[in-house]
Parts: sequence; structure tokens; C-alpha cells
Amino acid sequence: VALRTAEIIAVGSELLGTTRIDTNSLYITDRLSGLGIEVHVKSVVGDDRSDLAAVFRQALTRADVVVFTGGLGPTDDDLTREVVADVLGLPMTLDEAILDKIRARFARRGLTMPEVNRRQAQVPRGAIVLDNPNGTAPGLFLDHEGHAVVLLPGPPREMQPMFDGVCAGPLSERAGAERIYRTSLFITGLGESHVEQAAQPIYARWRDGSPPMATTILAAMGQVELHLSVRDADGARARRMLDDARGELLGALGEHVYSTDGRKMEEVVGDLLKARGLTIAAAESCTGGLLMSRLTDVPGSSAYVRAGVIAYDNADKQRLLDVPEALLAQHGAVSEPVAVAMAEGIRARTGADVAVGITGIAGPGGGTPQKPVGTVVISVLAPGADAYVRTFQFIGERTQVKFQSTQAALNRVRRMLADSR
Ligand code: ATP
Ligand code: MG
Repeated sequence: VALRTAEIIAVGSELLGTTRIDTNSLYITDRLSGLGIEVHVKSVVGDDRSDLAAVFRQALTRADVVVFTGGLGPTDDDLTREVVADVLGLPMTLDEAILDKIRARFARRGLTMPEVNRRQAQVPRGAIVLDNPNGTAPGLFLDHEGHAVVLLPGPPREMQPMFDGVCAGPLSERAGAERIYRTSLFITGLGESHVEQAAQPIYARWRDGSPPMATTILAAMGQVELHLSVRDADGARARRMLDDARGELLGALGEHVYSTDGRKMEEVVGDLLKARGLTIAAAESCTGGLLMSRLTDVPGSSAYVRAGVIAYDNADKQRLLDVPEALLAQHGAVSEPVAVAMAEGIRARTGADVAVGITGIAGPGGGTPQKPVGTVVISVLAPGADAYVRTFQFIGERTQVKFQSTQAALNRVRRMLADSR
């Protein structure tokens, strides 16, 4: 029978502390998914024989594939190999070929192999040895009563090439023809419950389809993500299903969907600017340059990013952006007239086609009853469109207010450019 489900066990007491984090399981999950194998459970286990054995035994009851990472080193606390052999009742024998390779590795650096490294040449009966060109510990692959049990080293620079080079092949042979196909929609400017309401009836139909579609809604800062996946042996059919479902969701959510291909907001905006041959500049107060930072995170952004000014102080709003003193005095720095004047100022100073002005109160201090923390005014000027200005009330602490402000501003740029097509 084909392998469909997996459990990952990350081994190492250091991963239970506060300084090292298990990232190998993310890499392994991604690669398994590409083979049509879904991770259902993962755990992090310290270097303890009985804990490791208990977790492994349980994994065998519920997963087709059990993948270990770590604990293949030469020292006493590296137990993975022994525990696996123990639990499966397999005798271990010393593999002379592995021993020769480890010796040669030391010899290349003019060293003799320490005796402790002999442990790494121990192989449970029937295991396929996975060569490790980047370290001493080879990996191991075992077929056991319908399960595949895989032992990979802990260091990512050893684990990753081993997985792709010599582990993916045998797993793929045993995984059958089904693969997992995915698509996603990123939405902003609509709350999670609104998205849920619009998506639910569509979701329900596809979830009951054949093959069934798996659907999730994830709320993140400043956006909601819809993820769709189908497991199918027929790739063309799966892609067609996903395309159709995505089309229906696009119909229901309309212009709030900013990306259907995984691109981030700043990439979407950058691509639009590039396609229209337009440049952008921004005058930022409460976001402290975050908008410019996000735009310039995208490689090649020099094609359309002109300049940014961070004008925190009112005197600098006047001096660097030509915001009239009277506007500041009359309306206050966080006001629609000032946001527009900031955008006009940066546009006049730079000659950029698209100009953004952002001014607000990121908190925790500085709020008033009329303008509480989270009040942010955004103005966008773009060719062929009326000047845009709007006052938002964002919820959250300082970094969240800053991010949501840039997300709303970039989204407005996106929509103005999309409309002016
Ligand atoms: P070796 O001892 O031959 O290097 P090993 O399999 O014994 O291999 P470990 O000693 O368990 O590897 O881990 C070595 C280092 O690899 C750890 O200190 C850690 O930095 C990194 N590492 C281990 N497990 C993980 C993991 N799950 N995710 C990310 N990094 C890891
Ligand atoms: Mg270890």
C-alpha cells in the first residue's frame, strides 16, 4: 500500500531549550507534501531513550512514514539509531564501508578517527544507508511492516541535501501516484468573519466534491488567507478543480483579493507599478519608513521606487514636505488635510507618479478621545485618479498599527492602479 501519512520526530534536548528551534521539520514537511505525503503529527523529544522509544512506538501506530531528524552523532546522547533498532527488534551490525568513509573524512583533514565514531557505522539489519557527503553520520532508511522509517542527521546543511539527494527517491517510489495540489488567495480590507461568510458556501460544495478539497482560513496581521488543496493522482483534474474553486472565490470576494499566486502585497504593487511604467514615493510619519522598507524588500524595486521621507516632527513636515503651518495648526498633524499635503509634498519634491502620505497615532501614548491610538490617515495620489484620503481606526499594539497602516496604503495603491487600467 502507498505511503500517505507521516510523523516527524525532531530529536535533541537542545531543541527543548530557548536558544535552538526545530526548523528541519518545516523543510521535511514541505518535501513530503511534494511527494503526496501529509504530516499529521510532529514532536520534539529530548535525548532520552525511553521518551524516544515511547514517541516512536506511538508514531508507528498512526503514521505510514516516521521521519527522525537528529541524534545520529557519535556521542552517548545520540540515541536515535539504537532506539529505532531496539523498538523494531533489529540487530545492528558494523558496516565496514561506512567506517571507511568516516575514516577517510578524518584523514582528509590529517586526523585519525576517534573510536566513538564507530557508533555511526552501526546499521540495523535491512536498512538502506543514505550517504552523507556533508558530515560523518549517514542517514538510514528502513522498510518495516508497511512503514517507512527514515533517520536523518540534525544539522540542516547535512539533512537537506540528504533528503533531496537520496531519501526523496525511495519515498517517492513508495508514495503511489497521488500528489497534493495547492492554491491560495490573500485578502485584505475585509475582516475574517466577512471572508468566512463569503467563502463558506463555496467551500462547503468543494469539500464534498470528488476528490474532496481541503480548505482553511487563516487570519494574519492585516490580511486573511484562504488555502485550498486537493489530493489526486490526476494532476490536470486537480488543477482544474482548484482553478474553478479559486474563480468562484474571486467572484465572491472581488477586489479584496490581492494575490492568488503567493505574491506578497509589496510584490503585487511593485509588479503593477512596473507594468504601468510608474514610480512611487512616500511621506511617512507614524510608520517610520515601513512602507518604503516593504517596497524595497522586493528585488528590482529600484525600477519604480523613487524616495521616502520620514517626517515625524511637525517642523520637518513643513521643512521637508512643504506642509503649510496653518494646516497643522488648524487640523492637527493627524488629519486628512495634512495627509494629503504630505503626499502632495513628496510628489512635488520627487516628481514621482504615485505618492503616499501616512500620518497617525501608533500608540501606546498620544491618543485623545477624538483621535484615539490606532487613528491613521492615509492619502494616495495616482495619475488619472481622484486624490484618495481616508481615516482608519486600527486595533492592536504599535507594530501592528504600523503594519496595518502600510498594508492599507499599499492596498489602496494597488486598487487605484488596477482601476486606472
Ligand atoms: P552530528 O552529530 O553528526 O552533527 P546529529 O544527527 O547528531 O549529527 P545533532 O547533534 O542532533 O545532530 O544536531 C546538531 C545540530 O544540528 C544542532 O545543534 C542544531 O543546531 C542542528 N539541529 C538539530 N536538529 C535540528 C532541527 N530539528 N532543526 C534545526 N536544526 C537542528
Ligand atoms: Mg544531538
